Amino acid sequence: MSESAEQHALPCLILGSGPAGYTAAIYAARAGLTPVMYTGPEPGGQLMITNDVENYPGYPEGIMGPQMMEDFKKQAQRFGTDVRFGMGTSVDLSSRPFKVTIDQAQEVWAETLIITTGASAKWLGLESEQRLNGRGVSACAVCDGFFFKNQDVIIVGGGDTACEEATYLSKLCSSVHMLVRKDSMRASQIMQKRVLDNPKIKVYFNTETLEVLGDDTVTGARLKNSATGEEFTIEATGFFVAIGHRPNTDIFKGQLDMDENGYLKTIPGATSTKIPGVFAAGDVQDSVYRQAVTAAGTGCMAALEAERFLAAQE
Ligand code: NDP
Repeated sequence: MSESAEQHALPCLILGSGPAGYTAAIYAARAGLTPVMYTGPEPGGQLMITNDVENYPGYPEGIMGPQMMEDFKKQAQRFGTDVRFGMGTSVDLSSRPFKVTIDQAQEVWAETLIITTGASAKWLGLESEQRLNGRGVSACAVCDGFFFKNQDVIIVGGGDTACEEATYLSKLCSSVHMLVRKDSMRASQIMQKRVLDNPKIKVYFNTETLEVLGDDTVTGARLKNSATGEEFTIEATGFFVAIGHRPNTDIFKGQLDMDENGYLKTIPGATSTKIPGVFAAGDVQDSVYRQAVTAAGTGCMAALEAERFLAAQE
């Protein structure tokens, strides 16, 4: 171990601070594993950019996403979780204790590692999209739709998320222009039908975004029909991107098994990965359910498995 490393290997290191991470921390702390959590670059995870959470059991009136994550954090700290700001930038899982480098500077060693690094929204990659992010550009209709009440908005994507969010926006906004890059949608039939039958949603197939327009805030988008080559503009004050999510697993490449989209593979019915002592919970290993409550459930599983793993080593 180098000088900057923790003196002793930590019994339990958690990377990521969404519902999966905090639930793992609560269970691990109560089991006496004195967990250390590094929050990652987006402390609290995706719920920090969510308004009302109405489907998490126990909150009959709903709760704001950031408040919920604050509560998760307090509960984890109450039992002794050491929550630190920082991000795992590389890992060496070839032997135990595992070595994790934080912010490319500090080495931390751990007997068990619980990965809860989550997933992040994908972006189109346009300069204008980045410049106007938070000024009309958003990757979360449920979080930000409210700000576009009775206004015209654009949404990009043709999957279930885009359909779900377009439908959601149609209840708030005057009109929703939905841009699909191919001549068909990837979404399930029922979701497509809901969109196509909705008089407030206009679907544009074969449509590519060239630029999000606006100086300080979004005023529209410059688009191209890829079938005809025709360029055109739509006026709108909101520009929503719903083209999928990307799991935050780059640092585990070559060390842990992943599916074709980069989600970590765990043993069915468990959170263990192919490396004994390394567990994965939450959206980083779940491309299907992606809910706070399912993430919390798998976070609990990971902590219980880590505890049993350590007990078996003694
Ligand atoms: P998907 O990967 O299913 O769909 C992404 C969509 O975005 C596709 O239409 C894709 O187009 C389009 N896209 C990707 N990149 C670009 C780009 N650069 N420019 C323009 N368009 C782009 O992601 P989702 O988030 O929609 O869904 C993820 C998973 O979650 C799916 O399994 C889905 O079924 C599930 N889900 C289920 C829901 C439900 O059942 N209620 C709700 C939400 C999600 P193309 O098809 O051309 O590649």
